[in-house]
Amino acid sequence: MGSSEFSVASRGADLAAAGEGELDVLVVGMGATGAGVALDAASRGLRVAVVDKGDVASGTSSRSSKLVHGGLRYLESYEFGLVREGVLERQLLMRLAPHLVRPMDFLYPVWPDTARRRLLGLGLTTYDVFAFAALGGRGGEAVRRHQRLSAEQAVALAPALADSELAYSYVYGDCATDDARLVLAVVQAARRFGVLVVPYAEVTGLRLDDAGRVDGATVQDRLGEHVVELRARHVVNATGVWVDALQALEEPGRPAVVQPSKGVHVVVPRQRLPLSGASVLLPSRQGDGRSMFAIPWGEQSILGTTDTLYAGSLEALSVTGADLDYVLAAGNDVFHRELASEDVLGAWAGVRPLVRRPGSSSMSDLSRRHTLVEGRGGLLTITGGKLTTYRRMAKDVVDRIVERDGRRARCRTEEIALQGGRPLGPLLEEVRAAAAPLGLSGQVAGSLVRQTGDRAFDVLSLVAADPSLAQVLSPSAPHVAAEVVHAARAEGAVTLDDVYSRRLRLSLRARDAALPSAPRAARLLATETGHGDAWAAAQVAAYTAAVRRERGVLGLPGTAALAEAG
Ligand SMILES: Cc1cc2nc3c(=O)[nH]c(=O)nc-3n(C[C@H](O)[C@H](O)[C@H](O)COP(=O)(O)OP(=O)(O)OC[C@H]3O[C@@H](n4cnc5c(N)ncnc54)[C@H](O)[C@@H]3O)c2cc1C
Repeated sequence: MGSSEFSVASRGADLAAAGEGELDVLVVGMGATGAGVALDAASRGLRVAVVDKGDVASGTSSRSSKLVHGGLRYLESYEFGLVREGVLERQLLMRLAPHLVRPMDFLYPVWPDTARRRLLGLGLTTYDVFAFAALGGRGGEAVRRHQRLSAEQAVALAPALADSELAYSYVYGDCATDDARLVLAVVQAARRFGVLVVPYAEVTGLRLDDAGRVDGATVQDRLGEHVVELRARHVVNATGVWVDALQALEEPGRPAVVQPSKGVHVVVPRQRLPLSGASVLLPSRQGDGRSMFAIPWGEQSILGTTDTLYAGSLEALSVTGADLDYVLAAGNDVFHRELASEDVLGAWAGVRPLVRRPGSSSMSDLSRRHTLVEGRGGLLTITGGKLTTYRRMAKDVVDRIVERDGRRARCRTEEIALQGGRPLGPLLEEVRAAAAPLGLSGQVAGSLVRQTGDRAFDVLSLVAADPSLAQVLSPSAPHVAAEVVHAARAEGAVTLDDVYSRRLRLSLRARDAALPSAPRAARLLATETGHGDAWAAAQVAAYTAAVRRERGVLGLPGTAALAEAG
């Protein structure tokens, strides 16, 4: 088993090791899909490296609605197989990562004019049946079965609905997660199986042998600024919305597989959109077939998402005025709370890798299923699907690899716990008891467990050794300075943006993006990674620029003064 260290140092060592001798599998892309492929392949005994041009989950996998779900709305288009698969994976992930994949109640509000109510009840029953079947014989925690609630009962779970004039509501069960953290947990599990993990390493070319077969890749080290040739018997293209660019390196002119679709979410204070015990599904009331969610998220609530075809740059996604207007109008239409841009604390924009159907360009012909494409030179491209189904997508790829090799090796990922996989209740009690004498609140302890599982004790050890690391980084979320050090030592964080945007999500929860604490966090990170004060200052500037760019029309108020104060 590999070590639990995942740091700049381990990354350098892994990159060097990947360059020595032939790999069985080189995975390109460290979103949910690539991380899943790496874990699956290594757990079947293959020698694997996984690279990403940026941080773990720096693409779409940190910008989802953060739900692990079957996708109730796909029942409307009779996609039973798709929904069943999602529900099955949800049930499995609740068992493998109980700290990260948490059951949540969802309200499906019904107004006097809601059409097709009978079908709705039937759809929810089908959803329950899929969950029941998924549990069959294997145990595991169940999400709640659907139930009809009075308008008053629904408002008790989601006070934001008080002025919505509901007829009644259904409540059903699904799961919420932290998407970037889920991917990180898969990457950490992959490291334990010996996967060489190299973030900030971009594939800029594919190696082709004399017969035109892909036998490796040229990799640009984004930290060391040198180029490395990696040789591999199988190369997997798990680059999400970028798959077509990599495929073009194998086969120029190949028709595109993916149609990107943009989705924007905004975060508002919980008081402005109070959801005490449940998310709310906002059915499309404007006849455009889109539905949105309002999701409780600590002291905040999330509202999203848009779903619009996207043809712009994949590197510089931003929230536009039209995105913002759409999300706020859809929320106001249901909640009547006059949410405005001044209420928004943070926002993110992502792009779904939707699979094109050959010869079609309409939105309705874009599949939510995943696809595995084998290129002329043998490049294996896997894309589409969703965060929830990453494990199934990975299984399909690795099944094909072992088939190509003429081996028999069964997929084992159904049994591999992510980060300990210990029951949540007792773990929470233990961590709370150990955190209190260190001056850490129950909220901090709870958040540590939900983020890191049993690695919460490692963070507590850091505080025990240096009490100044108990400093809370922002009033918007219960995160402490020790988590910055832990992110650098055990979670592969290289930049301040890695820590504040994807490990702690402070960029999304706090209106000021937690900039007042950023200079100290950057200095802690500099110490961990062997850099000086100038590097730390540059990190604050780069983080500020990244958040401001993604927030687009919303901007980042007062940042010049804040950054200078550091
Ligand atoms: C708005 C929105 C909401 C969503 N909500 C949900 C949800 O609630 N639940 C759910 O299950 N799914 C959801 N999804 C879908 C889900 O987020 C995606 O399907 C999933 O994250 C895609 O993962 P991926 O690993 O395939 O791609 P990505 O996460 O994008 O990973 C691809 C990686 O490849 C890297 N890369 C690209 N080119 C190169 C290169 N040349 N060299 C090295 N690395 C490279 C990128 O840096 C990136 O990290 C949502 C998607 C969106 C956009």
